[in-house]
Amino acid sequence: MRKIAIVVGHNASAQGAVRATDGRTEYDWNGELAEQIRALNPAQVRVFRREASRSYAAEIRAVYDAVNAWGADVSAELHFNAAPGATGTETLCATERGREVAEPVQRAMVAVLGLRDRGVKKVGPGDRGHASLVAGSAPAVLLEPYFGSYVSDATRADECRDALALAIFTALGGVNARDVAPEPPVDATTVAALQAEVARLQGVLAEIRALAG
Ligand SMILES: [Zn+2]
Repeated sequence: MRKIAIVVGHNASAQGAVRATDGRTEYDWNGELAEQIRALNPAQVRVFRREASRSYAAEIRAVYDAVNAWGADVSAELHFNAAPGATGTETLCATERGREVAEPVQRAMVAVLGLRDRGVKKVGPGDRGHASLVAGSAPAVLLEPYFGSYVSDATRADECRDALALAIFTALGGVNARDVAPEPPVDATTVAALQAEVARLQGVLAEIRALAG
């Protein structure tokens, strides 16, 4: 089962962009989304948070070192966009392995949210998000499902947050905990054989008792 690292973008003291609807920050809103994704299969998903550090580089290094130490097979950092008048969904990657992860996640988010498809964007050194996308060993993506600065985007994200969590989880290779097959039941033949063995051993025990008596 693929190990999925969900990294919450930004940190507690610099929480990123703010939503036009309710003033909630990226760090706050995505912290909840991350926990929703994890709840779908806590054995498969771990949530990582960035801690404010001496430098941005050190902050990114520290969190992706933790992602590596856990042995993640894939990582996704959660954000939302902000820009005057802009709307839509986009996914960032920095490598071809990242793009293979990004394409299905982008499709899944667009299908759920129904916002403008801004596509998968491959970023280079110095571009927004690049440091996060190359810091870990696993293929990495950075998600911008909507523009928090755009009222109807933020409203839509709230309306379908459960579905968004499931879409991201599934597209990253998540297997829903409740869909994992239970242990196969013991069949009737096995039960009959065990009962016969118990009867035989009870007979042996009775003989031993008789001899001892
Ligand atoms: Zn952000």
